[in-house]
Amino acid sequence: MVVVTVGILALQGAFLEHARSVAACGGRPVEIRKPEQLDDCRALIIPGGESTAIGKLMDQFGLFDAVRRFGADGRPIFGTCAGMVLLAREIEGLQQPRLGLMNIAVKRNAFGRQVDSFEADIYVPVLGEAPVRGVFIRAPYVTAVGRGVETLASFDGKVVLVRQGRLLAGAFHPELTADTRLHRYFLSFLDE
Ligand code: GLN
Repeated sequence: MVVVTVGILALQGAFLEHARSVAACGGRPVEIRKPEQLDDCRALIIPGGESTAIGKLMDQFGLFDAVRRFGADGRPIFGTCAGMVLLAREIEGLQQPRLGLMNIAVKRNAFGRQVDSFEADIYVPVLGEAPVRGVFIRAPYVTAVGRGVETLASFDGKVVLVRQGRLLAGAFHPELTADTRLHRYFLSFLDE
């Protein structure tokens, strides 16, 4: 069996946890800090953290164009939480740097202060009947879904998981649980 090399953008945030999830799926995780490191990767994960900090570092390291090309090549990209914010075309009320690869609008820190962080069961039909335990940490949600974007899960009436071709974005943190179904689903894009 060919082992799939998966880049994990490792500038800030929860990249180690994603690396662990990828390894648990049988993939080979590689921490990405330079554009040329993407050449060996078949897929890329952009972790949660702080989207402004990650964006600033991506800019400094010349990663914006490299990641846009990666996506334009049809190589799968999965963004979680801050990673979802960076993938969005529009960030409500904010002009911060972003990849803009997905036809979605998001709102940052959108669940409000009183529920800054919480966990909830999320039903994701493409993963089967058993819900995913969604860990939300100052999470965004999707406020508008454009052309070509499929809603894969909602919570409390808010869209929290979307797919556009080989791009996947989620508001919660699957890498903080032992459930690897969402990572496996993402890696299955390579077989489509
Ligand atoms: N609040 C962060 C942001 O908007 C995201 C939080 C996270 O990734 N856990 O960038």
